[in-house]
Amino acid sequence: MYQEKIYDEAIRRIQARRIRAQEQQERRTEQIRAEIPETAELDRQLRTACLSIVQALKAEDRSERLKKLESHCLDADAMLRNILTAHGYPADYLDTQYTCKRCSDTGFVSGKPCECLEREIGIVGAEQLNAQSRLALCSFESFSLAYYRDLPPEQYRIMERICQQCRSYAEQFDARKSGNLLMIGNTGLGKTHLSLSIASVLLQKGFSVIYDSAGSLLHKLEQERFSRGGQSDTLDMLLECDLLILDDFGTEFDTSFTRSVIYTIFNSRLNAGRPFIVNTNLSKEDLQAQYGNRILSRLFSACIMQFYGTDIRLQKSIMQNRNQEA
Ligand SMILES: [Zn+2]
Repeated sequence: MYQEKIYDEAIRRIQARRIRAQEQQERRTEQIRAEIPETAELDRQLRTACLSIVQALKAEDRSERLKKLESHCLDADAMLRNILTAHGYPADYLDTQYTCKRCSDTGFVSGKPCECLEREIGIVGAEQLNAQSRLALCSFESFSLAYYRDLPPEQYRIMERICQQCRSYAEQFDARKSGNLLMIGNTGLGKTHLSLSIASVLLQKGFSVIYDSAGSLLHKLEQERFSRGGQSDTLDMLLECDLLILDDFGTEFDTSFTRSVIYTIFNSRLNAGRPFIVNTNLSKEDLQAQYGNRILSRLFSACIMQFYGTDIRLQKSIMQNRNQEA
């Protein structure tokens, strides 16, 4: 899905919020009218005042008339609010409750895209990329430290701490202030599970998170380079999303193109203060051998988490086989 469709979808979602807010307001009005009939009279007065304002605008003594109408409206409005609170409702119960107060869920403020629209574009874009990565989201609840209990105590404590750090990372995430994480360790030690758990918490909070393997993302970028004459919506999204999670870093094809893109991604995100999480099965030494200093100095500026343990998928399948035999 390319930028234009993402934009249309984001606008559609915001305008759906506007319609929903207005429908809810109408329902509340009907309910209050039935419950407190005296509000109908105040409502009528407010509507009549609207018509009188239109007429007053044409009159000679309009400033005087408008002043009177204004105070009349304010009185009626205040009375309405008093009645609502007296009946146990919030004073703004009959106001339309827009999700975005800045643009009243139109998506625009003085002709320019509102922050909420920009935010929604990021979320729709991330959803599209994540849908393509076909990975079910994991949660912290389903992450078990039991798989690490055979480790030497010191390594077990490190794993315990990593799990805790990932939880607080998700809880305290700030799209402009959070640091970067580099998860290092063999396959099946929980790197993907923990980074997807972070993604899951942040997506629920409304952040735009892009998660995919380095190989798959770079492949997409390479395809766009050839099919779309260098213009890349995927790259824009990778640079602009709130959090980028690159899984299986080091398994992508190593070409001058992929290297330059990797450098651009790390460098741009670092300069813009936008966080990333990188997972890799390569050791620090392997990374050093595979990537130049330009990339490594940027990658190693992240908080490095060294994972320990025995392949969890392997442990799970051994357990399953044992249970079947029993
Ligand atoms: Zn808005």
